[in-house]
This record gives sequence, C-alpha cells and structure tokens, in this order.
Amino acid sequence: MRIADRIQRLGTETAFAVAAGAAAHAASGATIYPFHLGDLNFKTPAHIVEAAKQAIRDGKTGYCPNGGILPLRETLAEDVNARRGTAYTADHVSIQPGGKPVIGKFLQVLMNPGDMVLCPSPGYPIYESLIEYFGGTVATYGFVPGTEGFRIDLEGLERAITPKTKLLIVNDFQNPTGAACSAGEHEKLAEIAQRHDLMVLLDEAYFEIHYEGRARSLVSQPDMAERCVLLYTFGKKFAMTGWRLGAAIGPREVIAYITKLNVNDESCTNHFVQYAGLAALTGDQTEPARMVQVLRKRRDMAVAMLNATPGIRCYSPPASFYLYPDVTNLMERKGFGGDYKAFAEDVLVKTGMSFCTRLHFGAPLPGETRRYIRLAYSGVDVEVIKTALGKLQVYAA
Ligand code: PMP
Repeated sequence: MRIADRIQRLGTETAFAVAAGAAAHAASGATIYPFHLGDLNFKTPAHIVEAAKQAIRDGKTGYCPNGGILPLRETLAEDVNARRGTAYTADHVSIQPGGKPVIGKFLQVLMNPGDMVLCPSPGYPIYESLIEYFGGTVATYGFVPGTEGFRIDLEGLERAITPKTKLLIVNDFQNPTGAACSAGEHEKLAEIAQRHDLMVLLDEAYFEIHYEGRARSLVSQPDMAERCVLLYTFGKKFAMTGWRLGAAIGPREVIAYITKLNVNDESCTNHFVQYAGLAALTGDQTEPARMVQVLRKRRDMAVAMLNATPGIRCYSPPASFYLYPDVTNLMERKGFGGDYKAFAEDVLVKTGMSFCTRLHFGAPLPGETRRYIRLAYSGVDVEVIKTALGKLQVYAA
C-alpha cells in the first residue's frame, strides 16, 4: 500500500492518548478523576432536544442549503452582532458541523503552500496539524505570565513576522490557559494585523464561557470584521459538543468559498440539528447561564485548592473551563525535572488524577523555563474536584 505524503504531515489531538491511559488505569480497578477531557458533564437543555425531535417529525431530514438554513444564519448573525457590535448578515455565515471544521476551511481558502501562519503555543494542536497538512509553515508565539494571568507575548509575535507571514490565528478565551485578551491586547493585535496585512482566524469557541464582566472580541476593533473569520461553536455554550454544530463567520467572499468547501466535504451540516441550534439561540437562556455559574464554582474551588498545594501556582482565568497551573517546583522537588510523562504517570497512579501537560499543546518555546499542566474542569463536579485535589495536596506535601 502506498500512503500519500500529505497525510504524513497530519498531526492529532494527543489528549485522546491521555484518555486511553486513564481508561487503562481505570480497567485495573483504580478510581480516575478525569481532568484531561474538555467535555461538559451537563445535558443539552430539554427545549433544544425537543426542537431537534420536532424537526425530525417535521421532515427536516433531507439535504438543506450548503451554507446552512437561512433562519439559523440570520439569527446567529444577529446574536453575534449583539455581543460584538458587528454588522453581519446571513451572507457572512456558513454553518459547519462543529467549530473545528472552520480551522481547515479557513486555511484552505486563505493559505497558499509556503505561507507562514502565526499560531499560539501553548495552543490547540489542530492549528499546527492542519497548517502543515495544507502545506503552510508554522510560526509560534507564546504567552507571558502577568500579574493577573497570561498575556500574549506581543513582542515575540511581531518578531516572528516575516514577508511570508500571511495569517494569524488568535484563540481568545484560550485553550489551555483560560486567558482572555485585554482591550489593550485587542488594539495591538488589530494594529499588527493591519500593518502586516494579515487575515485572522479568531477562534472564540469559549466566548460565552466567560466569568468576569462582558466578553470582548477582537472583531469589534475598527476594520477587523474585514480581516477576521470567526470560529463559532454551539458546543460549549449550550452543552452540545456531540451534536456537531458551529459556524464560520466573516467577509462574504471568504464565506462563499467556505460554503463551496461544504459542498465538497459534507454537502450540508445535519439539517434537523440546525433547528436545535435555532432553538438554542432563541429559547430560554436560564440553563446556559446556570452552567456558567456552576463552572465558576468549580474554577474557584480548584484554583483555591491548587494555590494551597505546595509547589503549584495557578491563576484564576477569566474564561474557558481550563486551568493551566505552573507545576515547576513540584516536578523539581519530586525529582522529575522536565519529564512530563513520568510526572503525569506518577500523579495518575498515586492520586487517580489524569490531565494533559504542556506538551499536548505544542513544543515549549525557546527560553520557556516554567512547566505547566492543563486541568479541564468541564467534566468534574465540585465534590470530585475536592476529593481529587485533596489527594494531590497529600501527594505534594
Ligand atoms: N477551538 C478550540 C480552542 C477548542 O478547544 C475546541 C474544542 N475542544 C474547538 C475549537 C472545536 O470545537 P467544536 O467541538 O465545536 O468542534
């Protein structure tokens, strides 16, 4: 068999390997506390489920327009406008089977082979995987620990720009750090994008999982709607990750090409699921609001317990459902140095906690000396957090 060259460049989400390791440990009878998985242990709100059932009964079971049903595109444009001060219409929206497909489609429409793309490290690993798969080159920018949380290393980002740099990927409300850009960072990013004529993939998958005040968007900066393609997902806000519903939102011309990719890839996103998405946007918002409150309690409990653990420091991030604690001192004291794999295995065996490490989000950058792990609290209740982090405190004592 002859496997194509291109596919050898495709990466993956190695977090799924952590899940396999945790499952193997669980099979031996151990209790596992799953902090590795960015999935929610909330049910999709009942009125959304009912809307899908009704749509099936109403016969919304055939193909629908390639870019999505008009009422969903219109309603989503209005919803995004209300939160971001933009002026999108249905023409600016292409419905997708999840947020993730926006990444590859953005690159296929806007990146030529050999173009350089700036992307975050630590960052969602699918960016690098798909940039390389489609023949581009990756330039990474990092984050610096500030007083309140992580900040984008804007100087490093600018230094990485070359004449080949065409695209910038920004994951605001970030996975894995939970960081949200300040107004100053938005201004500076907009200025850099304009000065270097960069198109931007703005991954706001966690825009609505935001705890402090109103979430702000880079797309609200002057002239940025022309440069940004928004990655929108219903998955996190409405606890619908497995339904696979999201959208690309951006300049009309780009969106038309993305919809042409839909024709070639999946024809259309699941027809009746789009009616569930419509009900999600227009229906009762009590449940999404309650979920954010529950997540906030989990965050507060976890951050307090981590900061009471010897050798660990952790910010209280304003967004997402991830924590990115600095475990450098604990790893040193336990004799692991920089060996993340051995450290994670030791913690798994001795406490039952499974989690991802820095290495699941790209290679550490030159000069990066601190060591981090990522804890997802989307799938663990407060009581589980208390028990698991109590065990971690005993381990670290
Ligand atoms: N972007 C980021 C940063 C994510 O963490 C995820 C999901 N883990 C996605 C995009 C994709 O979301 P979806 O499930 O909607 O495809």
